[in-house]
Amino acid sequence: MSDKLETILAVARDHACNVIAPNVGAWNAEGAWPRAASDKAGAAGLTGIYASEDWGGQGLPLSQGIQVYEQLGFGDGAYAFALSMHNICTFAGCGYGTDAFKEKWARDLTSGRKLANFALTEPQSGSDPVKMYTRATINGDGTWTISGAKAWVSLANEADIYFTVVKTSDAPGHKDMAMIAIPADAPGISFGPLYDTPSYNFLPMSEMYLDEVRVSEDNIILPISQGLQGSLMAIDIARVSIASGCCGLMQAALDTALSYSKNRKMFGGKNLELDGIQWMLGEVATDLEVSKLLYRKAAEALGTPEGPLMAAHAKRFVPDAAVKAANTCTQVLGGMGLLQPYGLDRLSRLAQMLRIVDGTTEISRVVIGRALQKRAYGLPDLPIPKGYGEVNEQSATMAAE
Ligand SMILES: Cc1cc2nc3c(=O)[nH]c(=O)nc-3n(C[C@H](O)[C@H](O)[C@H](O)COP(=O)(O)OP(=O)(O)OC[C@H]3O[C@@H](n4cnc5c(N)ncnc54)[C@H](O)[C@@H]3O)c2cc1C
Repeated sequence: MSDKLETILAVARDHACNVIAPNVGAWNAEGAWPRAASDKAGAAGLTGIYASEDWGGQGLPLSQGIQVYEQLGFGDGAYAFALSMHNICTFAGCGYGTDAFKEKWARDLTSGRKLANFALTEPQSGSDPVKMYTRATINGDGTWTISGAKAWVSLANEADIYFTVVKTSDAPGHKDMAMIAIPADAPGISFGPLYDTPSYNFLPMSEMYLDEVRVSEDNIILPISQGLQGSLMAIDIARVSIASGCCGLMQAALDTALSYSKNRKMFGGKNLELDGIQWMLGEVATDLEVSKLLYRKAAEALGTPEGPLMAAHAKRFVPDAAVKAANTCTQVLGGMGLLQPYGLDRLSRLAQMLRIVDGTTEISRVVIGRALQKRAYGLPDLPIPKGYGEVNEQSATMAAE
């Protein structure tokens, strides 16, 4: 492990243990994004993980930087998710943005002074983003005028800029899609009521309305025709980041169960001395190790032709393992597992949320299924055992009659 990675992981661990974990209950009660905490994350180098050092970032490759969310997820999965989306936008802006955009925004984003989020989902289009309506019209002076509505926008009314995916014509399909960064103070942008999400109430989420919002062409991040492709790449990074965050969540659940179980007296011994309890927690421990290996392998594949499939494997397996881990650890504590101070109920709900966000588990299965079909077509046909096909054909003819 490089010194730089080791340092940033230690910083992230410290942030999770000393800034997130002791305060997340209060943040949820307050129901507001903890800007002072994300400012600290920025000052500690956690808001420009992949952006180049020239722009104030850490310049870590995706394969390494993604491990930061495993540390942050130990504190809270929703907080880790929000910072991961900010880092992906910052990476896109610093890597693909125009020179004017970078001059204006890059250092504020990498330092965390300004926060960014990604707006793709719309009320009628989540898993099927091609069904989006948000439309940009390109004006004679090069500016874009954008109208439409986005849904499930995280850091709603809190982020300073929204990396928004738009269509640029009425043509069906994705060829005319683009991504443009819309500043939060642009005239015509507004937000709906906040969604009510008790387990991560501090993460503001709502619909975002765009009413003839005029944006400079300097803010184009992915030009027409690259919008969907670039967004899918961003989502692959997001999927692996979620899997990384889930590993932190699983570790937090396991540690809570172990801390409780080692002292809980029963049947003349301790709960953790029971074989059945060790087996339950042993399965969680194995799933955690497998999950770490899988997301790290998927992170290495990002940007290669294997990237989307590996991201789908990680997003399919790890959040499911996290749901199972949070539920198993709750069970190990018996009734105490349901009490608020232990936080296991919150972890179960967070794990379920992480199964949905950035492409559901089912969408990952669709990606994997398509890859399997492709592989199947490249394999030789199996010979049908003599007599078997004829019988089948005979029965099919009889059934048709
Ligand atoms: C906490 C949270 C934060 C979010 N933040 C953002 C954000 O910042 N920016 C943003 O753009 N989006 C965000 N999202 C949106 C998120 O990406 C979508 O919720 C997700 O893509 C699913 O879309 P949907 O909710 O519309 O579900 P739908 O697309 O309506 O799906 C409904 C169900 O159908 C299933 N399904 C869909 N297609 C298939 C299929 N082919 N086969 C089998 N089953 C299928 C789905 O898996 C799901 O179970 C956020 C979501 C959550 C929960």
